[in-house]
Amino acid sequence: MTVDLLVIGGGMAGLTAAATAATAGARVLVAEKGDHTGGSAVYAGYAWTAPTVDVLREVNPDGDQALGARLVDGFPGGVEWIRSLGVDCRPAVTVLGYGRGHQFDTNHYIARCEQRIKEHGGQVLTRTRVTSLLSSGAAVTGATLRLPDGSTQQVDARWTLLATGGYQGDPDLRASLIHPRARDIELRGNPWSTGDGLRLGQAAGAAFGTDGAGFYGHLIPAGVPLSDPSLYVDLALYFSQHSLLFNLDGERFIDETLGDHLTTIALVHQPQARGLLVADAAAYRDHITQSYVEGAPKLDRFALASRRGARCAVAHSLDELDDMPPSGATPARRSGRRSRPSTAR
Ligand SMILES: Cc1cc2nc3c(=O)[nH]c(=O)nc-3n(C[C@H](O)[C@H](O)[C@H](O)COP(=O)(O)OP(=O)(O)OC[C@H]3O[C@@H](n4cnc5c(N)ncnc54)[C@H](O)[C@@H]3O)c2cc1C
Repeated sequence: MTVDLLVIGGGMAGLTAAATAATAGARVLVAEKGDHTGGSAVYAGYAWTAPTVDVLREVNPDGDQALGARLVDGFPGGVEWIRSLGVDCRPAVTVLGYGRGHQFDTNHYIARCEQRIKEHGGQVLTRTRVTSLLSSGAAVTGATLRLPDGSTQQVDARWTLLATGGYQGDPDLRASLIHPRARDIELRGNPWSTGDGLRLGQAAGAAFGTDGAGFYGHLIPAGVPLSDPSLYVDLALYFSQHSLLFNLDGERFIDETLGDHLTTIALVHQPQARGLLVADAAAYRDHITQSYVEGAPKLDRFALASRRGARCAVAHSLDELDDMPPSGATPARRSGRRSRPSTAR
């Protein structure tokens, strides 16, 4: 089989690239390892980013500056592209306090990308895993696919795109590339992104980013299984920037106001990768029980975590707060509004 563009991975990135190339007249093949396309985008709901490069730098200080500028500058064009496929992109709202973005139906978008690829003669194969890249000298010239029936197929391609997502589904890579304690952190994303693109790229001689580049994640209540993907968003403790986070030695270790995504990376380096999150009545009223994105349904995240078995408690006075063990490991005693500690991971 010969194509212009072979896309490895049918998530948001791969399908967007494939649909764009197909629209421009390229013959495209998308190989997706999972039993459906979409990757982690099936859990997402907003196209968003920081409104300016300066804000992006503030919230993601170690990020690649050039890529950040491309993201912010290219964002309006990206929204136009989504709309051009007939997918509704709602008016802009504030996201997680600092971002701006548009709600849209990601599953509709994925379906429309696939439709666009097929309309232009392209193919999207699911349950098809790329096992190795083909090369000629220093050039990558395609890949070998393992099809659902176990047979293999060689695809020659003028361009080959690695769009296999991250390595969140591989505990060994999490342990070696993030921190040994990251081996046991809960998976909050699609299970098929296991670093295949990283391995394929390195086998073809590619270099791999900077050490300690971190990861994208959010705090979640410790000990609460994320078995149901609808909990990925509902159980995330996005409000942690309005709280205090202590490690198991009772010490603070980061400026929580930097944002939950950075606090999460820092917590992995703390004992047992667990902490005690303490919020007061104002944070409960103004953030914990409010929408994390303007316009989204309100949800009491403390109550949900408690219902799901998180070790959390309400103290009605500073004396009661004092009585709590450093791990915060006490069950909820009474309802109240004074102060709301909960364990976080
Ligand atoms: C709960 C949750 C909510 C989110 N909400 C938002 C949001 O509102 N807005 C936002 O912008 N972002 C959001 N994100 C992040 C966003 O979903 C991801 O950044 C994005 O979907 C990543 O897309 P991707 O295509 O790069 O990777 P992935 O989604 O990981 O897709 C990679 C694909 O490659 C496939 N693959 C892997 N290895 C192989 C192989 N060897 N051969 C073939 N296929 C392979 C995988 O099966 C997968 O389908 C959210 C993420 C989560 C988990």
